[in-house]
Amino acid sequence: MPDVLTTYPKRGADGLVNGERSRGVLRRWAVAHSRTLEQFYNFFNALLPYVRPIIVALPEPLAEKVFRAIEKPAKQAMFGCHMCGTCILSATGMSCPMNCPKNLRNGPCGGVRDGGMCEVKPEMPCVWLDAWQGSAQMRDASKIKIIQAPLDRRTQDRSTWVALARGDHSKSGLNLVAEPNPQAHPLPPAGALERKIESGVFVVTTEFNPPDTANPDKIKAEATELLELCDSVNVTDGAGANTHIGSFGVCALLAQQGHDPVMQISCRDRNRIAIQGDALAAAALGIKNVLSLTGDGMQQGDQPGAKPVFDLDCTSLLGMLRNMRDEARFDSGRKIVDAPRFYLGATSNPTSVPPAVEVGRLAKKIEAGARFIQTQYVFDMEAFMEFHKRFVGEGLSEHCRYLVGVGPLRTAKSARWMREAVAGVRIPDSYIERMERAVDPRAEGIDYCVETIQRLRELPGIAGVHIMAFRQRDALREVIERSGLLDRNRQALIRHS
Ligand code: SF4
Repeated sequence: MPDVLTTYPKRGADGLVNGERSRGVLRRWAVAHSRTLEQFYNFFNALLPYVRPIIVALPEPLAEKVFRAIEKPAKQAMFGCHMCGTCILSATGMSCPMNCPKNLRNGPCGGVRDGGMCEVKPEMPCVWLDAWQGSAQMRDASKIKIIQAPLDRRTQDRSTWVALARGDHSKSGLNLVAEPNPQAHPLPPAGALERKIESGVFVVTTEFNPPDTANPDKIKAEATELLELCDSVNVTDGAGANTHIGSFGVCALLAQQGHDPVMQISCRDRNRIAIQGDALAAAALGIKNVLSLTGDGMQQGDQPGAKPVFDLDCTSLLGMLRNMRDEARFDSGRKIVDAPRFYLGATSNPTSVPPAVEVGRLAKKIEAGARFIQTQYVFDMEAFMEFHKRFVGEGLSEHCRYLVGVGPLRTAKSARWMREAVAGVRIPDSYIERMERAVDPRAEGIDYCVETIQRLRELPGIAGVHIMAFRQRDALREVIERSGLLDRNRQALIRHS
């Protein structure tokens, strides 16, 4: 068994998750026997030239009817197929990605729960961890590295077999330019944050959850307090699937003040038309940094009845933004008169997903255009070191700047709550025990955070920290000061209006 999941805690000796019982027996068999099915798939492909004349000779509606009648029940039983019409099973370890509740075509998301279970459906193993496992067993294990394009919804409920035979099967990989075209955009950094990160200075960013207000002065005042401590702020986009003032508008306000915030774009709430339009408008309003996120599942937010969009995933979104920048074109191919100049970022979850999977999915994000990475909270340094070894060993640190997520928690109770309620955050027992033993848990949380930053500063390939300290400005200041990161150099970057 390849080592994709061997470091994962709750998988059995056969590499499968405890709890697989909840899935169809055949679907489980398909992932476990992906290599055998790959041979069958290759055999089927070899037969295609012989079958093609028959399919092509039939009127299309008839061919569609006949072959769909066979394909649909067979693939449904075996793979839980949803008949997306652009089958990529051979690139996803025989695990159908349409079973992912977020419909990701490039996964997993950052919300994988402890034990490899799904963020949205905790009773189900993550479809995308299965995909990486199944792929690792296949003769051609590299196909999962292809960046899949967003689904063409017009192919829904159509036969992939007929499309393949008729030559209509749209290429599933995202169409990316090989290298950024230097003529398409000027080479100088997009903004102050890029300049600082790329200059090699250890940077500090923080999360900004703006107040829900229509008063711009309040927003600017709160942001400025954070920007006096940090190099930049990430303005959240409907964090935790809760309704809040939009990242786009807040970033535009801050950019007008001369700041250089990071605009978050979540794929959960808008489709590709809205996102590309907003991205271009953001560039026109002076926003330079864009962080691409898949987005938390609706179930944890304040509007669980809302419709989840997930037209894109964070990787395909990155590719689209990169093409807008480097090729001056929308996804439709239509030209953009003046291309936006973005510094593109993505997220990472180094301790909740097996290192091989996390490094594999990061490599795809980097290929899609991510140049800086900000991570989920890291509390488990042991697990982080396993990831880090592989991240540096595979050369990824040479292609992106990695900012590690840290933060002071106030009590053992809040640590327990976070471990239970926030999918994708891994907090080891040792951390909770340390907080429980502490006379002053708040101070202990700050101590732990400072110690973590000190360890991170000594590691190669770490470009900075992303400190999450929701409503804890004093603690944020203390962490930054005690870590020796509140320097005059940073102050120079803040250009008050
Ligand atoms: S954890 Fe995320 S990627 Fe995995 S199946 Fe659930 S929603 Fe999809």
